[in-house]
Amino acid sequence: MNYAATARRPELVPSSKFKVYNEKNLDQIDYLHNLPDELRHEINVVAKVLPFRVNQHVIDQLIDWDNAATDPIFLLTFPQRDMLEPTAFKRMEKLLAAAADPKAVHALAVKIRAGLNPHPAGQMELNVPRLDQEPLRGMQHKYHETVLFFPSQGQVCHSYCTFCFRWAQFVGDKSMRFSASETDGLYAYLKRHKEVTDLLVTGGDPMVMKTRHLSSYLEPLLDHSLHHVQTLRIGSKALTYWPHRFVTDDDADDLLRLLERLVKAGKHVAFMAHLNHWRELESYMTRRAIQRIRSTGAEIRCQGPLLDKINNDPLVWSRMWREQVRLGLIPYYMFVERDTGARRYFEVPLARALEVYQQAYRSVSGLARTVRGPSMSASPGKVQVQGVMEINNEKVFLLRFLQGRNENWTQQPFFARFDEHATWLDDLEPAFGAEQFFFEEEHQQLSRQRLAG
Ligand SMILES: *Cc1c(COP(=O)(O)O)cnc(C)c1O
Ligand code: SF4
Repeated sequence: MNYAATARRPELVPSSKFKVYNEKNLDQIDYLHNLPDELRHEINVVAKVLPFRVNQHVIDQLIDWDNAATDPIFLLTFPQRDMLEPTAFKRMEKLLAAAADPKAVHALAVKIRAGLNPHPAGQMELNVPRLDQEPLRGMQHKYHETVLFFPSQGQVCHSYCTFCFRWAQFVGDKSMRFSASETDGLYAYLKRHKEVTDLLVTGGDPMVMKTRHLSSYLEPLLDHSLHHVQTLRIGSKALTYWPHRFVTDDDADDLLRLLERLVKAGKHVAFMAHLNHWRELESYMTRRAIQRIRSTGAEIRCQGPLLDKINNDPLVWSRMWREQVRLGLIPYYMFVERDTGARRYFEVPLARALEVYQQAYRSVSGLARTVRGPSMSASPGKVQVQGVMEINNEKVFLLRFLQGRNENWTQQPFFARFDEHATWLDDLEPAFGAEQFFFEEEHQQLSRQRLAG
């Protein structure tokens, strides 16, 4: 892949109209007509199964259409043939060729998606907090100090990423509306849980919301009774997928004022920017958005998964981290991706992930070494692959918890037998003949307790 070829189209008139394309109006994307018929056909077929949504900014500013077939941003947003099993692809292709009615197409799509199973059993039920025995919808409390909140209106995105495991929610019911009781539950819970210092608002992308909706979610934080919630994090890809949100959208200024109010009230406000490639940081509008967000006193931290064909290259990461530091952003996490519908397409073995991380990390200065990884967000916690070593003639992975379901696990190192093909914690066996990893029994216990409520 030629990463040097990055001819950016000059942004003559910053397009501030949010125009979006999905599987129904895909043909209106002019650039697509210059692609080989075969590729266009394949996109059409796969877009019936995997969620597809892309906006004008991504099309005009981020994708290098002269090299589309290998362009990382193209592969990140446009569905590809190999993202489906060959048999699934052929079935959908055949059905479409027969000009089947939309109901049949939908039924087959649902069936194929079910086979991709992006939500491993347990994950969703395990971390749901309760208030007076009642489970709280749209929240997760897994780690002691941090509560995750998924506002019902923020469960879509400005464009969809082809690797994303949250796609199940995009293709479901989109009629969800703002519910005041949702915020009531969140804040009633936070008031009782003084150990929670961080609120992480995530999605989809919460930045698809209008500022006035975001305000109703966030203003209650200013109340004295929530003094212990020091940090507000907002997980978003808007910084690069729709930077206009912070610059030219009608309520962009109101948004900046909201951030400013939170900062002035003493909160640490951080955007958790989802980034996959340094190319995303090149657009003029993104740079303006960065300046404007930072002028409010909010920080921007960056995280993203390692993905084959997109960023499976130490040079891509080192350049991205360096660029982040230069622009005043803080590198935070490199993730190993597992829960993706198109898993096989993007999968990178842990041994390779470590190599990419280490090589990139070695070539950047200390200011970019705030990034931790490669990290697996697994059921027992966030587990970092730290190294490969040989001890007593056994080749092993050195791993450690960055976050543990039990906080005492955090920072605990442990060993697994080296396996060059392993792509996830589940694939690993304890080293040195041990029966179990040190956390396994307790983890099973904790899981049973939580499920029992
Ligand atoms: C990553 C994560 C957090 C935040 O962890 P930090 O290490 O504080 O960034 C919180 N909850 C869940 C479920 C997470 O996966
Ligand atoms: S949730 Fe994030 S990673 Fe997933 S599609 Fe939306 S922007 Fe992409």
